[in-house]
Amino acid sequence: MARVAIVTGGTRGIGEAISLALQDHGMTVAATYAGNDDRARDFTERTGIAAFKWDVADYDACQDGCARVAAELGPVDVLVNNAGITRDGTIMKLSYQAWKEVIDTNLGGCFNMAKGVFPGMRDRKWGRIVNIGSINGQAGQYGQVNYAAAKSGIHGFTKALAQEGARAGVTVNAIAPGYIDTDMVAAVPSDVLEKIVAKIPVGRLGQASEIARGVAFLCSDEGGFVTGSTLSINGGQHMY
Ligand code: NDP
Repeated sequence: MARVAIVTGGTRGIGEAISLALQDHGMTVAATYAGNDDRARDFTERTGIAAFKWDVADYDACQDGCARVAAELGPVDVLVNNAGITRDGTIMKLSYQAWKEVIDTNLGGCFNMAKGVFPGMRDRKWGRIVNIGSINGQAGQYGQVNYAAAKSGIHGFTKALAQEGARAGVTVNAIAPGYIDTDMVAAVPSDVLEKIVAKIPVGRLGQASEIARGVAFLCSDEGGFVTGSTLSINGGQHMY
């Protein structure tokens, strides 16, 4: 039987590439999204991958959503916590709401989704969880205290949950992407983006497919000895 994977935020950007990579590896994929129905409909038409709508920041919606995927597609073997948002601003201007939205979505979403699938993975003695962190959770970034804190939290969450899953065949890893060419980066002002790219040793933005290949490896049988790790895919930033 094909393995079943949930990819949060799996209908566009990096998540879309991850959904396609896992489908290529023979998995039955459920791609979730928050509200962009047109993009989700277009994605399903192009790929044949089912899209499910719920807010990863909503604990109950995540439990219901995981149960719905299991009922429709089968027990969930793989979870990729990819959904994420930015609400940038220096702390002088950042509202409490912008802080909370980013923490609740980017970090809280990982907890909410893991609660929905981890017990079943542990019972079946096989599972893969990959959490999408960020280079900015490793190094911080001006104007992103909320985003950097959430992503840094993801790296700690990964190491702690990996310890709970290790003896039960459940691996838990993170990927820390550098700057990847998606809608999220398209929103960065072009003069700022030029300065960012100038600092990337390979001299270009990454492609979503380059993150997806790393995820596919971590979700494979061959990845079974890798757990509690963070794979940095960032064009060589931080190598010096
Ligand atoms: P995009 O903005 O292109 O896509 C985000 C996806 O997440 C969309 O599918 C969106 O759904 C979904 N989403 C957002 N909020 C929620 C929510 N509350 N509940 C459920 N789904 C939600 O992002 P990217 O593809 O650029 O980024 C993907 C991940 O990679 C994020 O975690 C991001 O932080 C991380 N990352 C990205 C980098 C980059 O350079 N792009 C660098 C480092 C990390 P909808 O379509 O409905 O809006």
